Amino acid sequence: MAEISRRTVLRAGATAVTAFGAAPAHAADIGVSAEAFPLSAVSLSPGPFQANTARTHSYLLFLDLDRLLHTFRLNYGLPSSAAPCGGWESPTTELRGHSTGHVLTALAQAYANTGRAEFKSRGDHLVAELAKCQARASSPGYLSAFPESFIDRVEARQQVWAPYYTLHKIMAGLLDMHMLAGNTQALTVLTAMAAWVKRRNDRLTLAQRQNMLDTEFGGMNEVLANLYLLTGDPAHLATARYFDHAEIFDPLAAGQDRLNGYHANTQIPKAIGAIREYHATGETRYRDIATNFWTIVTRDHTYAIGGNSNGEYFKAPGRIASELSDSTCECCNSYNMLKLTRQLFRTNPQASYADYYEKTLYNHILGAQNPDSAHGFHSYYIPLRPGGIKTYSNDYHNFTCCHGTGMESNTKYADSIYFFTGNTLYVNLFIASELRWPGRGITVRQETTYPETPSTRLTFTGSGQIAVKVRIPSWTSGARLRLNGTVQNVPVTPGTFATISRTWTGGDVLDVDLPMALTRDVTPDDASVQAVKYGPIVLAGAYGTTNLSTLPTLDPASIRRASTPLRFTASASTGPVNLMPFYAMHGQRYTVYWRIR
Ligand SMILES: [Zn+2]
Repeated sequence: MAEISRRTVLRAGATAVTAFGAAPAHAADIGVSAEAFPLSAVSLSPGPFQANTARTHSYLLFLDLDRLLHTFRLNYGLPSSAAPCGGWESPTTELRGHSTGHVLTALAQAYANTGRAEFKSRGDHLVAELAKCQARASSPGYLSAFPESFIDRVEARQQVWAPYYTLHKIMAGLLDMHMLAGNTQALTVLTAMAAWVKRRNDRLTLAQRQNMLDTEFGGMNEVLANLYLLTGDPAHLATARYFDHAEIFDPLAAGQDRLNGYHANTQIPKAIGAIREYHATGETRYRDIATNFWTIVTRDHTYAIGGNSNGEYFKAPGRIASELSDSTCECCNSYNMLKLTRQLFRTNPQASYADYYEKTLYNHILGAQNPDSAHGFHSYYIPLRPGGIKTYSNDYHNFTCCHGTGMESNTKYADSIYFFTGNTLYVNLFIASELRWPGRGITVRQETTYPETPSTRLTFTGSGQIAVKVRIPSWTSGARLRLNGTVQNVPVTPGTFATISRTWTGGDVLDVDLPMALTRDVTPDDASVQAVKYGPIVLAGAYGTTNLSTLPTLDPASIRRASTPLRFTASASTGPVNLMPFYAMHGQRYTVYWRIR
């Protein structure tokens, strides 16, 4: 999330998905070939993802909701004696209110995934209190912690941070409380907000709206397309299209990379909106915009950990080694890239999408939460300069964008492990979990300590004819599937799915072996600058309290496996060094990239 000062300087004068799963929709999404399971159908089992989730759950139950409502209430003349929040939720921060939207989404996801009533009751309370604020709005439907004059300012191209960005977070939170937690009042509040957005933008000319879109607006097109897919109300689709940003969409539709110099996380949600507008309309231009954006970003703007951006901005294509700093890889960007990837997999279930998902999930998102924090404090940037160190948020005095999307990421790990179409089951991720396939009486239990062990085991309960498609990652070689102990003679080509189609019976066990090896990720702009990986896992050098001013030189022939899984030793120009998974690197300085001789 760009700071106002920098954005204002750079822009002056010129210038959401939800795992809808099985929720009832007005019309089926157009152009979808695989569907996600609802969060309620998949439980996490013990492991690093469940541990992250538990910390975020604790935080969601700890938060004082009156403090999250304080600036909303003041904005509508309601009394509030709550202590104001700090950081980006302070009463003078122009982004105030965004975290309340993130909390609504996180509570809805936590409830859908666990069924624990305390998450829903807290979300219901927030919705009811926000509705009381909205009911007092002088402009019907307007719901915000800041005055509507901020919208005047963004329309007039006067200095203001990102008012529609914040409204999108609230709208997405309301939609999630409705779709995932069954809150009907949330839909009422949301549709009134959507009507307000439409009225506000109906008044503007096309040119005025397009100029306004130069200011970061989050996923307004996404949440309104999602709402249209729920309600079928053409007004919601028309309002979504008001947020189609031609300056970004036109080159993407033509397959052109014009991203250099653009604020990265301002653009990613626009592409998520585009794929949802494709699902809403069937217009292939929207699909092309989203797929071209994904290809350009993942191919030419992405670091070894799956993240993108330096100082929050896209750089020229292929600039990686030359863009290593303390402000690389804003966490929101990867949160949003995973949302986009998930929608693209639904659209076209290719293993390459799931490969990127795995890379970014393990190497960026999983390791962005501080495991020493009982409340799941979260990183903003992930420094990739040599000697970088992760830093984290706190309870009430941070509330950055990445603290917000971190709450969301860490309550929905169950949403992209399995997908299905008809009687075909996709196993995309190797995360300890249990899938209860709705309506089929089939349960799949996945037991694994992956990636510490390069294998997973699927045990079936119930019976039925199913084609099980297991992702064979592009990084493996010599993968093997064993059914009840017998090696299966099916293609196991890396970068595809291996398919076992049969009538499964209770107690069937499918073992999947995915051999891992040491590889190196070579940066496109300097072939001597590389990251070390073992299977999908980026290994970083552990440097304790030692800062580094240049990339250490690593002798790759010196890398030796240590006794602990995924731990290695090596010799570098700095001396002996321990290599460990970057996702587990906390509380000390590190290097992800090396000079390789
Ligand atoms: Zn962020």
